[in-house]
Amino acid sequence: TGLDDLTFETQDSGMMGGRGMMGGESMGSDLYSGFLSAAGDALFRAGLAAFVLALGVSILISRKIVEPLQKLTQASLFIAEGHFDQRVDIPGSDNPTSIDELGQLAITFNRMAEKLDQTETMRRQLIGDVSHELRTPLTTIKGSMEGLLDGVLEPTPETFENIHREASRLQRLVSDLQVLSQVESGAVPLRATQANLIPLIEVVCSRLKPQFLEKGVSLEVDLKQSLPPVIIDEDRISQVLINLLGNALQYTPKGGIVWLSAETTDGVIEISVKDSGIGIPAEHIPHLFTRFYRVDKSRSRAGGGSGIGLTIAKHIVAIHGGHIWAESHGLGKGSKFTFTIPTTEQKSEI
Ligand code: ADP
Repeated sequence: TGLDDLTFETQDSGMMGGRGMMGGESMGSDLYSGFLSAAGDALFRAGLAAFVLALGVSILISRKIVEPLQKLTQASLFIAEGHFDQRVDIPGSDNPTSIDELGQLAITFNRMAEKLDQTETMRRQLIGDVSHELRTPLTTIKGSMEGLLDGVLEPTPETFENIHREASRLQRLVSDLQVLSQVESGAVPLRATQANLIPLIEVVCSRLKPQFLEKGVSLEVDLKQSLPPVIIDEDRISQVLINLLGNALQYTPKGGIVWLSAETTDGVIEISVKDSGIGIPAEHIPHLFTRFYRVDKSRSRAGGGSGIGLTIAKHIVAIHGGHIWAESHGLGKGSKFTFTIPTTEQKSEI
């Protein structure tokens, strides 16, 4: 029986074992299919969540990046067509600390548009000013020629002198405009060399001396014994001096005096042209260096002035790293124009 028991037990355990195996298989497949469906479910949920997230992010990106970029592209196209008043909204402008790269781009874009707008306004204004300046002498020349042709005007030396004066004014205006366009665009070929201002001033003064003598205005030059060397384009600085001395002569009546002085102060050489002439009312002083600005248009024109001499001087002085300014105590009280040029020691420090 012990053996039977054993056999039975064995059989039983064998039967038990067989039954256990069969139950494990079905449980495994249940588990497997459960796992599959759970994984599928999870994948679906995850996919859905990823899709919703991707959609959300793309909407956000489109709002935050693509839309402003599209607006910028559109605005640039408008500007390319000549509509310089175009501006774009600055993303995040309500909170200046949160302005990102796109906001910076929009700010720079608006700045560029503003600059282009200003340049365009200046260009239009220049064309208007130039045509206006050309019209006056051309009308006089044409009128005189017509008068001569019709026999209304006598062919006297005065008539021809008149025509000649107007033609000279036109010539001066055109050459001044050429210089102005060069200096304003920064396309001035500067031939800068180390130079001494004393001989340069003396040459300019001796060139203008006959005109001072002719008008009866005396020119007094006060130069210090020595001035430190400067790096300049001698022709251009001579041009500045000629413009200032020419103006002083033009706006100083007969019997008046023009003083020229040069001295060194704080690393710069200060050159002043002072006159005892008609003076300048205070309200005009800030505008004197603006092209075509004249205190008294008829007086300036009568003297052959183009109204751009001081603008040219300002640009030339600025290219040399100096400043130019005007002073006057008012009408009839004379004027003083001063410009500076950094000395070579000052330049090497910079
Ligand atoms: P312009 O050719 O008319 O002289 P500028 O640019 O040289 O042109 O000068 C501008 C204006 O500044 C002149 O029209 C004149 O009204 C004024 N101005 C310049 N220099 C003097 C001066 N020394 N005295 C009085 N007014 C002056």
